[in-house]
Amino acid sequence: MSAIHKTSESTYIFLDIKDNTLDDIDKASHADIRLDSDLDSPRYGLGALEKLPLEIVHLALVRLDVRSLTVFGRVNKRARLVTNSIPQFRRILVHAPALIRGSLNIESARFFSCQDLYRKLSTAECDSCGDFGGYLYLVTCRRVCFLCFTARADYLPLSRKDVTRKLGLDSKHIVLLPHMKSFPGRYSPRAIKCRRRETLFDYSAARQAGIAIHGTVESMEKYALEMISKKLENYNLKLSGSRTGGAHLRPPRYEDLFDGHCSNPRRFMGIIRAPYFDSQLPSPEWGLHCIACKSHHYRRPIHWRRKYTISGFQDHVRECGEIKDGQHVPSINVEAV
Ligand SMILES: [Zn+2]
Ligand SMILES: [Zn+2]
Repeated sequence: MSAIHKTSESTYIFLDIKDNTLDDIDKASHADIRLDSDLDSPRYGLGALEKLPLEIVHLALVRLDVRSLTVFGRVNKRARLVTNSIPQFRRILVHAPALIRGSLNIESARFFSCQDLYRKLSTAECDSCGDFGGYLYLVTCRRVCFLCFTARADYLPLSRKDVTRKLGLDSKHIVLLPHMKSFPGRYSPRAIKCRRRETLFDYSAARQAGIAIHGTVESMEKYALEMISKKLENYNLKLSGSRTGGAHLRPPRYEDLFDGHCSNPRRFMGIIRAPYFDSQLPSPEWGLHCIACKSHHYRRPIHWRRKYTISGFQDHVRECGEIKDGQHVPSINVEAV
């Protein structure tokens, strides 16, 4: 952690932690997304679209997937002005442009619209546990907290080989799944360097597709096991027939790679810090940490990586006790005494 800023009477703090998520990678990238500062009138219009009221054009554009929306914005200057004047898109560009650049960089922007993204930013809770989620999982645009994206299977995207091995899907099924292409950079708090661009598939969507194709979880797992057994059999056959002792042969993998959770770079490649747009507040909230939980690293409700909105922090104090001398002091339940 590189800095601590006190924001209110030493009870909550902003920990500037470098987790090496996509927003940290973004600082070195140069994707062309910007708000226009050129005030000259555009030379060309939008053709037939000019006959429609601007609000109607906005309604249509905000439902486009983010990739198509940015492609439209590059048609000419008028298109860029119209795109940047969509209220939801403009607010995202002003406060969190890395979300747009990140989804374009990892090529997941085709899987959700600007409206989907804005709705997710207007919801505070982690999709998995209900805590404040300070991040988005950009493969499918889910809001998530640190403790969930570093632990749950849903946020560990799978390689093509893993989708086939674990879930029994072949290439014609795989092509339809939401996926991302990892962006070269350093990921996870350990800043692990990843150079190769790898296509990674959303686990939840792949699992659901596997169950739909095989009928039940049991038959999917049985099929996947049978496939591995066949591959092992073939490998052993080749091995026994090899004159060189099989030095050039690689055994099929039948176990998952070591996960490593919060040090697994693959868990950070589709994750980006994200603000919460509260309609009652003029500025977005990025989340705060509890000073009394700072030295607790094991389990909720007291855990240093939990983040809170300002109102969520009041709930945390009610649950865990007022903070005195940097510690929670549980309130005494009079009825229970
Ligand atoms: Zn969570
Ligand atoms: Zn606390």
